Amino acid sequence: MTDPGARPPGGSHAVVLGGSLAGLCAAAALAPHVDRVTLVERDRYPDAPRWRRGVPQARHTHNLLGAGQRSLELLLPGLLDDLRDLGMVEVRMPQDMLLLVAGGWVDRFDSRHTVLSGSRDLLDWAVRRRLRELPAVEFREETEAVGLVAGHGDSVRGVLLRDRDSSARTGWGEPYEHEADLVVDATGRGSRAPAWLQNLGHQAPEETVVDAGCAYATCVFEPPPGHTADWKCVLLQSTPEEPRSGILNPIENDRWMVSVAGLGGERPPLDHAGFVDFAKRLRSTVLYDAIRDAKPLGEVYGSGRTENRRRHYERLTRWPDRFLVLGDAVGAFNPAYGQGISVAGMSALVLRRALERAGTRGTGRIPAGLTGPLRKGIARCVDAAWMLSGNADLAYPGAADGPLPLAARLGKRYTDRLLKVATTDRTVATALFDMTHLLAPPQVVLRPRVLASVLRGPRTATPASASPPTAPSPGPAAGARLPEERP
Ligand SMILES: Cc1cc2nc3c(=O)[nH]c(=O)nc-3n(C[C@H](O)[C@H](O)[C@H](O)COP(=O)(O)OP(=O)(O)OC[C@H]3O[C@@H](n4cnc5c(N)ncnc54)[C@H](O)[C@@H]3O)c2cc1C
Repeated sequence: MTDPGARPPGGSHAVVLGGSLAGLCAAAALAPHVDRVTLVERDRYPDAPRWRRGVPQARHTHNLLGAGQRSLELLLPGLLDDLRDLGMVEVRMPQDMLLLVAGGWVDRFDSRHTVLSGSRDLLDWAVRRRLRELPAVEFREETEAVGLVAGHGDSVRGVLLRDRDSSARTGWGEPYEHEADLVVDATGRGSRAPAWLQNLGHQAPEETVVDAGCAYATCVFEPPPGHTADWKCVLLQSTPEEPRSGILNPIENDRWMVSVAGLGGERPPLDHAGFVDFAKRLRSTVLYDAIRDAKPLGEVYGSGRTENRRRHYERLTRWPDRFLVLGDAVGAFNPAYGQGISVAGMSALVLRRALERAGTRGTGRIPAGLTGPLRKGIARCVDAAWMLSGNADLAYPGAADGPLPLAARLGKRYTDRLLKVATTDRTVATALFDMTHLLAPPQVVLRPRVLASVLRGPRTATPASASPPTAPSPGPAAGARLPEERP
């Protein structure tokens, strides 16, 4: 059975598989440039900001880094204002944070970096609301993608879908062909694209996996009555020697979302008492001190897969035209670095720029040969994040196969020193945040002024065991600044 239904007569039609943030970003990138975008999502979306099965990680803390804020705003202008209006909290980094990195407590100052903090359910709902306003975008919920449809030569001409059918034994109806000029797979870590490619006679991509054995647990709290503090967020990073981390994030409706993580196989308990006790054993007790009298507002949830995993689609010499993969389906990261949404947004901008260059708007067609070269652009977005998460996690026992290569050992020595110097040197800290917010290429931490400071070594850092730094005298609120790229 074929379903050409979504293709407007004489118009171009793109299908995006997976309607979480990577799929939503891709649809936003496509909408101005094609006549129809069909967004295929296996779940039925809740009509309010609520958890759903297809995005299990939404129970956990999500930070929107600078590059994520920037790309979402460029794709959907006005979205950042929506998010602030809905109660997401802007946290100046490190001014509003108690931030413990491997080298010690980071001095608090306004580096002009902000993290946007709120529940993931709210973020997705706000983005979906914007997408629903775009006339070119059609949502197909309770529909599952199960394969690709081969076109002429090395290309695809559509996707195999099936609709939810409660009367069927499997819960799904018979698969049917859905025609499209472009198919974008954004179905996340569980993407079946490698198998789909093999079914078309292509090779599956090579994979790189770095698994630091990170296990998350998260609980939402109401702050203790009368709570006051000079910080909004607490972030205690782990080290290979002390492999436990914790984050307390402010979220909408004056709540805290708190996640703790064990690396190298240690799993945080999933009961309240065990959770709070685990928090006591982090590198500093400040997070524990904050939550011990706070009221839990729900269960403690554990996380599923958190390994760094990338699929090297860009290395395949044969590629079916009119097919693209992005988001976690290409590169998924240890969540402790908070990068996935940013990479999804950056990748969607790569797609949008290619469509702009190809001049597809109003032509009713998507030219051949677009997607093959795009794989490299998307891989570069993954590279930027991988430099941090994939490489840093190599230092955890068992994460690497065998001894670390020389380049990784040297990189680690430099990073260790950088993380000490960054605690007191504002230029070095700002360069570090430029990199970690994916607003500058990783080489930013090798610029002469940064390099000189790192080689000179740290001034006395504040160790984890000491009290964290206090806030500087209150500065102006960060306001509605769009994070800038640092070339
Ligand atoms: C514990 C945890 C914490 C994280 N914290 C952060 C953070 O702080 N900051 C950050 O930027 N990132 C974070 N991430 C990563 C972030 O969640 C993802 O990068 C982000 O959701 C984008 O992923 P995605 O859209 O590619 O895939 P997913 O979010 O996994 O979504 C895949 C979508 O595809 C749908 N789907 C799957 N298969 C099919 C199919 N066959 N047909 C149709 N639909 C299908 C699913 O229902 C789902 O909607 C975290 C991840 C985890 C696990």
